[in-house]
Amino acid sequence: MRTPVVAGNWKMNGTKATVATLLQGLKHGLQPGRANVLVCAPFPYLSQVADELSGTAIQWGAQNVSEHPSGAYTGEVSVGMLEDFGCSHVILGHSERRALYGEQDDVIAEKFCAVQAAGLTPILCVGETLEQREAGATMSVVEQQLMAVVNRAGITAMTKAVLAYEPVWAIGTGKTASPEQAQEVHQALRARLAREDGAVADSLSILYGGSVKASNAAELFACPDIDGGLIGGASLDAEEFIAICQAAG
Ligand code: PEP
Repeated sequence: MRTPVVAGNWKMNGTKATVATLLQGLKHGLQPGRANVLVCAPFPYLSQVADELSGTAIQWGAQNVSEHPSGAYTGEVSVGMLEDFGCSHVILGHSERRALYGEQDDVIAEKFCAVQAAGLTPILCVGETLEQREAGATMSVVEQQLMAVVNRAGITAMTKAVLAYEPVWAIGTGKTASPEQAQEVHQALRARLAREDGAVADSLSILYGGSVKASNAAELFACPDIDGGLIGGASLDAEEFIAICQAAG
């Protein structure tokens, strides 16, 4: 039985004041449930998040990391630094990083290995653009993104990772994939991994991301291969995010 995961991706949003309000709302409003809940905050707020969430059931993580351990990489943040602030997870390969910052599969695979080597859990994002979907290339695109990491890290590495299917056309657009569209891709991703190792495929949590809200979370999470969500915009609203977490169990 896979444990559901609900991860908030705050992206580049927040101030000390809004982060404090959001964390108070989550700490006091979130009832214990079956789902693992975490928030991925911008780097400058990780210290504040760690102070507020230590000792609670809510975990926290980052939205990106360097593939390098230390050194002359101006502007970068290492996995060791994230460890110092108690991060449990790191989002990798988000479509905004791929599209806006040119992150390629090989670099994402290196980051994945660095995160796991430090004992943190990578949340690997894969997803197709609208053009790719319309061209019938969805499965080949997401499988290529996934297998670039599996081929570098090894299939057993997926036992200590989370996968997120995020169709690019559904991120921040208000257009959610239908439960059938999402389930089809989740099932195909799991089947692809099962060709390498059935037990690993079966144990992997695959999250859906793309305009998940309190109003559509339950029907998405009810699909057999959807094990929770990666939540962008709706994770900035405590009440909305808590309702999504509750929909995950
Ligand atoms: C995301 O950024 O990972 C995301 C899913 O965003 P949104 O929920 O706003 O579509």
